[in-house]
Amino acid sequence: MIRYDFRSDTVTRPSPAMRQAMANAEVGDDVFGDDPTVKRLEERTAGMLGKAAGLYLPSGTQSNLAALMAHCGRGDEYIVGQMAHCYRWEAGGAAVLGSIQPQPIAHQADGTLALADIQAAIKPDDPHFARTRLLALENTLGGRALPLAYMKDAVALVRAHGLATHLDGARVFNAATALGVPAAEVAAGFDTVSVCLSKGLGAPVGSVLVGEADLIQRARRIRKMLGGGLRQVGILAAAGLYALEHNVARLADDHANARRLADGLSAFPALTVTPPDTNILFVAVAAEVAEAFNAHLKENGVAVTSTYGTQRWVTHLDVDAGAVDTALAIVAAFFR
Ligand SMILES: *Cc1c(COP(=O)(O)O)cnc(C)c1O
Repeated sequence: MIRYDFRSDTVTRPSPAMRQAMANAEVGDDVFGDDPTVKRLEERTAGMLGKAAGLYLPSGTQSNLAALMAHCGRGDEYIVGQMAHCYRWEAGGAAVLGSIQPQPIAHQADGTLALADIQAAIKPDDPHFARTRLLALENTLGGRALPLAYMKDAVALVRAHGLATHLDGARVFNAATALGVPAAEVAAGFDTVSVCLSKGLGAPVGSVLVGEADLIQRARRIRKMLGGGLRQVGILAAAGLYALEHNVARLADDHANARRLADGLSAFPALTVTPPDTNILFVAVAAEVAEAFNAHLKENGVAVTSTYGTQRWVTHLDVDAGAVDTALAIVAAFFR
């Protein structure tokens, strides 16, 4: 049985107060534009990110796809990182449903895409090539907060070539917290930004796509096409509003807990800890103990994800400092 769940910040359950907000939500048929709670959530999110309009969607995957399809048509392409969620982890939706060609490029060690690589990937207007339309960045990426100066330079570079920009800001509030700036500064310069409410913010479902009004209007049509037009969905949007009001400032606690975990795990020579920027911690486990160590954690109710000898520990609002200390004690018992 899982008692300390560090697999992902998506495992959070709605709190009693969030459930109360959901039960009390004012609703209407959102496909008719009648749901006041959805409208409030869309406006609130857009406001926090410094954009004109917002669109509530069931998932981050659908939000990214609606954005890519709002920017790009059939035979267009978007430049994107090899490890970016909207390229690698969304079942190829842009290509399958949008007829959009991805142009993935390798990340630098710090998670950025080298400006020279972006520049080289922009195709000239020539019938041999897909039309390069968009740069899609992600922040945070693998828990890392990309620096503001880098994003500004990347956006300026592609703007000079007439490209549009999308930010997969699933964890944009974690990025803002780590960078010590308002989220609107992380979002600045991007035409569209997708934000997840169901990660560290603790809502059970939902993402909001924000951007300029005409793009968001296009995305609204595409959302309908993708099956994401929902009815009395204010009952879910209320959870998102609650999350924005109560669970943004406390992301700093998750980051502190990730550092606490990193400090504790660093004491064991078999564990190589990458210091975390935000709430996601990567731990390489020495090959000779990896299997037994993973089994020990599992037996003691500590859940992490693990691939190729690298564990991912994610902190969130359902694992507090006490849970971190208990998990560290369980780790210590293994190495003793
Ligand atoms: C989780 C995530 C998404 C997709 O969100 P879902 O709601 O799971 O579809 C997109 N981008 C990033 C960076 C994510 O972490």
